[in-house]
Amino acid sequence: MIFSFSRLNLYDQCPYRFFQKYVLGKEEPMTQPLALGKAVHKAIDNKIKGIPHDQAVTNGFVEADFYHEIHYDDISDLVGRAPITVGMGETETYFKLPLSSHENAPMLQGYIDVVQPKGSIVDWKTNRIPYDVRESYQVPLYTWAISQIKNIKAVRGSYYFLRFRRESNYLFTEKEMEEARLWALNVANEINEKLDLYHFYPDKYKDIFPAKPSRFCKHCPFAANCYRKFQ
Ligand code: SF4
Repeated sequence: MIFSFSRLNLYDQCPYRFFQKYVLGKEEPMTQPLALGKAVHKAIDNKIKGIPHDQAVTNGFVEADFYHEIHYDDISDLVGRAPITVGMGETETYFKLPLSSHENAPMLQGYIDVVQPKGSIVDWKTNRIPYDVRESYQVPLYTWAISQIKNIKAVRGSYYFLRFRRESNYLFTEKEMEEARLWALNVANEINEKLDLYHFYPDKYKDIFPAKPSRFCKHCPFAANCYRKFQ
């Protein structure tokens, strides 16, 4: 399995939800926040590439498959709040890197919303509640990836919360980026061990990937299944 921040984070939040989605391959249904995020990201990407606002917003709406709970005006409003200029950086930058120098090291991949010429990165957020960029390992991991690719020792990473026109940014040091890499490596190794166990003992899936109830259960599409299995 190739890992991404969202895979690792989902496993961290709840191994059973991870099992349903990434081992059994069950689709999580599209939701309004997901569709809006998808549309807005596409539209901002297009605007940075020089596409006029209205066309960029339309392209975002198409990207989200005209999801019935989102509206053109909402996308347009959020996109209009992004502090962007044409050509400000490389958009949707893809990376795929081993998480250690070990021969069979797990691979981490991801897409970074914007990488600016000096290496700083930006991730657009449509969330209704802003939070600090250091609260999750997403940006620290992405800055680690950029530090590897560009061979730089400190990388600035930021979340930009469009609803609030508010940025949370931080200059990640080598030590902090290394901490994020180790978190990812440990979680990836644990998942790989669990996958091996599941291969030999498929009937033990509930012990191997246990449910971990938390505030995230509220939005979990597998809640009914989980309740039936774990009571
Ligand atoms: S309902 Fe909660 S505990 Fe159950 S799979 Fe979903 S997130 Fe995990």
